[in-house]
Amino acid sequence: MLLACCRYCCEHSIRFLIVGKGSNCLFDDNGFDGCVILNRIEFIERIEPGVYRVGSGYPFNRLGLQCCNEGFSGLEFAGGIPGTVGGAAYMNAGANGQIVLPRYERLSSSSCRYIPSETFSVSEGATTGVLGKAEIISASGERSAGSVFQNPSGFSAAEFIEKAGLKGFRRGGAKVSEIHANFFINCGSATSTDMLELINLVKVKVNSKFGIELKEEVKYVSACNGLISNRNDSFSV
Ligand SMILES: Cc1cc2nc3c(=O)[nH]c(=O)nc-3n(C[C@H](O)[C@H](O)[C@H](O)COP(=O)(O)OP(=O)(O)OC[C@H]3O[C@@H](n4cnc5c(N)ncnc54)[C@H](O)[C@@H]3O)c2cc1C
Repeated sequence: MLLACCRYCCEHSIRFLIVGKGSNCLFDDNGFDGCVILNRIEFIERIEPGVYRVGSGYPFNRLGLQCCNEGFSGLEFAGGIPGTVGGAAYMNAGANGQIVLPRYERLSSSSCRYIPSETFSVSEGATTGVLGKAEIISASGERSAGSVFQNPSGFSAAEFIEKAGLKGFRRGGAKVSEIHANFFINCGSATSTDMLELINLVKVKVNSKFGIELKEEVKYVSACNGLISNRNDSFSV
């Protein structure tokens, strides 16, 4: 079905966007002028002990928990990531030094690509139930899209933001989290403009103080131009 939707959009020159849980997306207040494909391919297949083939719409945190419960180690970090397997792969989601790499499929005769499923190999063994900041933030009920900026090589974006004195810094309804400075919170009334302004202000302040240029991790989906980010989103037409 995902393939059929993507193919239809490509053939009819309709701009489209595949969304998993949307946990890494910042949509423009004016919406998205195109087709949003909500991915709900949620199967899980145990190929052999410790090898799972999982649909790209499967919740990544559920997969992490399931692996732990079945006595396998390696995907503990997924437990705190509130997205789908496809979103995690696309974003190279990770924590504690582990990341997920995407396996794309391409639509024939087009540059559009999508992730239908992923296969994970985990090893038997004791699991480590690490409670990361992401889980603390989720538990606190604050609404965010996770880390706003990528970590500059060898450094922590959150540390720069915190050292620039920006924890709690606010623009309209958008605020830098007091718990994790790289998480920007919707206090209830934030517009996408508030969020974009806050992102720009933080970038400018960190740059003027440390000479570091922070790059967005969060995906801003503009109303007319689709995804804007520093990654290549070639499936948006
Ligand atoms: C509280 C909180 C904590 C977080 N903690 C972490 C963390 O610890 N580590 C981390 O890495 N991230 C973290 N994130 C960010 C986010 O949850 C992850 O990047 C997640 O994997 C995104 O999955 P999603 O399904 O929500 O993707 P979406 O936001 O729906 O999509 C993200 C991008 O992936 C593309 N995409 C999604 N599915 C597919 C597909 N099947 N084929 C092709 N493209 C696709 C979308 O088009 C979009 O460009 C956190 C977010 C929140 C809100």
